[in-house]
Amino acid sequence: MRKMRFFLAVCFLILLGGGASPTHALEIWRGAAIQGGMLILKTHPEAIIRLNDEILPVASNGLMVIGFHRDDSTSITLTASLPDGTIKTLTLTPSKRAYKTQRIDGLPANMVTPPQEVLERIARDRQAVIEARAIISNLDAWQSNFLWPVEGIITGIYGSRRILNGAPRTPHYGIDIAAPKGTPIIAPAAGIVRLVDDLYFTGNTIIIDHGHGVSSTFLHLDSVAVKENMAVAQGDVIGAVGSSGRSTGAHLDWRVNWRDKRLDPQRLAGAMPKQ
Ligand SMILES: [Zn+2]
Repeated sequence: MRKMRFFLAVCFLILLGGGASPTHALEIWRGAAIQGGMLILKTHPEAIIRLNDEILPVASNGLMVIGFHRDDSTSITLTASLPDGTIKTLTLTPSKRAYKTQRIDGLPANMVTPPQEVLERIARDRQAVIEARAIISNLDAWQSNFLWPVEGIITGIYGSRRILNGAPRTPHYGIDIAAPKGTPIIAPAAGIVRLVDDLYFTGNTIIIDHGHGVSSTFLHLDSVAVKENMAVAQGDVIGAVGSSGRSTGAHLDWRVNWRDKRLDPQRLAGAMPKQ
């Protein structure tokens, strides 16, 4: 009996020690430092985390999120000021990825180079998207395991260089999933709808804020089932697959951002189930 009590006491101390240990003050919780990767870090819930001159939010469970852009290659250093006065740093260097080149020929000229009269609209569209993605809310949905918003054949991947009608263009930042027109699209994680609009290039477009600067963008929808400022749960139907905007066939283009950094959605949702 005494032995048992001693054993329990040791276990309890280990549990206590694990939570309060200063060596666990700022560490990787999930994900990897890689181009296009989202990284969840664990720290003290009351820690103040700085990246350069900015303070990054920490959730009440001590988790926080950062992301690396397609071409990020330099190290970043996060500084944690802990409630007991100690300072911890964590330096992360994103590992490099190789990207494919995707050539698409025979596109109508107005899809590749927009006509002069729509340039103003395109600039307005872009600004609305930038503003929606810039929202830093305290939602915690970025902590969940993301679902595929649609299941289908992947026809375009994150990061690929694009050569349209022979001219090099900006890389592709989304993941293209081919699916029949009308296929329901679900929210990959919970959040608040920040943008619902019909945009020149991307057609019917939805942006969902998952919190702490993490957002999902859904392009080329046939129809939309949500409104701006609506809260959605993971798995809720938000619209249907289509080919609106400058698109060559029914598919969903899903993008994920951390602030203005473009992340690879495939790294969040895992392997696509076999079709
Ligand atoms: Zn796409």
